[in-house]
Amino acid sequence: MGRSRPYRQLYLLPDLEEVHQQRRHNNDRDRIARAFRELRKKGYECHADWHCCQNCGLAALKPESERYVFFHRQDAVKIDRWGNLQPGGIGLNWAGDPEEIVVALREQGLVADASGGWARRIHIVRRADITDPSKSSPPTS
Ligand SMILES: [Zn+2]
Repeated sequence: MGRSRPYRQLYLLPDLEEVHQQRRHNNDRDRIARAFRELRKKGYECHADWHCCQNCGLAALKPESERYVFFHRQDAVKIDRWGNLQPGGIGLNWAGDPEEIVVALREQGLVADASGGWARRIHIVRRADITDPSKSSPPTS
């Protein structure tokens, strides 16, 4: 009967903990963080989970920043508890050289797309989402 069992065992499952450890330094959130680190060296102001929305995120940037990359809370919640992107990916607000940003993301193994041009956000999607060519264009949100 499960009733006599300590509750604690339900939450501290060793195998889940192991999976978490394995994924800890090799998930999408880490890849994005590493890409941001490289972009900072190139003079970009970079932020993950930066304010609640685009307007607030833009307003909070340093006034002198001409190059920046960030994603705000509404996209941060699309990254799961293990730090991985969900179907549909996330969008980055940015200013600077879109190719430079995309290359930095791709160097970390992320799938990034800046084909939307200047007016559009750069999308990062899961590799799994682009194995099907019909899904190669990220959603236009
Ligand atoms: Zn806001």
